[in-house]
Amino acid sequence: TLEAQAVSAWFGTHKVLERVGLAMAANTVTALIGPSGCGKSTFLRILNRMHELVPAAQLAGRVLLDGDDIYDPARRPIDTRRRVGMVFQKPNPFPTMSIYDNVVSGLKLTGRRGLDKDAVVHSALTRAGLWHEVRNRLRQPGGALSGGQQQRLCIARSLAVDPDVLLMDEPCSALDPTSTRRIEDTIAELRDEVTIVIVTHNMQQAQRVSDHCAFFLAAEGTPGHIVESGPTDEVFTDPRDPRTADYVAGRF
Ligand code: ATP
Ligand code: MG
Repeated sequence: TLEAQAVSAWFGTHKVLERVGLAMAANTVTALIGPSGCGKSTFLRILNRMHELVPAAQLAGRVLLDGDDIYDPARRPIDTRRRVGMVFQKPNPFPTMSIYDNVVSGLKLTGRRGLDKDAVVHSALTRAGLWHEVRNRLRQPGGALSGGQQQRLCIARSLAVDPDVLLMDEPCSALDPTSTRRIEDTIAELRDEVTIVIVTHNMQQAQRVSDHCAFFLAAEGTPGHIVESGPTDEVFTDPRDPRTADYVAGRF
């Protein structure tokens, strides 16, 4: 379980998140929804300590991974980043590196020796739903794949290190409907082994893939905050806040 407690964030003096609290339970999919600029990507970066790489970024509050504070000074950022993977809107495999090497590229992070790389590649590509399409072209460059395949390769690269959590920031926004459905199928299958947090602007997608949903809003220059969160069915069919009702109905 990943849990954010009273997380606030700033870029310099500009406060962009206000006391965000959210528990993302193991083996569930949580969708983060809300208008552009409300802090969803910032929140994701906070969940795997990428936020601290951004110049002038500051943070308050706590993030607990299975009860341990990931910002504990005794913990190295890398220890969190290998347990909490991230997939971005634009597929970003290493374009000239082979498909095979793309998948194993994250393994150096884990420092685990004696791994059977072939087995890792097979397993990660299978779980990402890509194995059958690439099994005969593992030595081709990652950049030779279609956009949807590249995104599944990025998912495989994240999975290769056996993360506990997979963060996905609009993973389908650059993809066609067919590739989008493939990724959604992959998410459904991964659900039992990894905690998934997905940012999406696609309300149908949020309903299809997520168990829980959090609606972020940054109204009139105020910092982003969670207006409402809960089981996806409730957020969509019986929201407590009228702003949530308006947003999920596409009224802003
Ligand atoms: P979108 O849906 O468009 O992706 P978002 O909800 O992901 O939006 P963020 O990208 O988290 O929003 O941005 C939240 C706020 O933080 C915005 O006001 C943005 O301008 C600001 N911001 C984001 N990244 C930086 C940065 N590196 N430096 C300064 N300000 C930033
Ligand atoms: Mg974003």
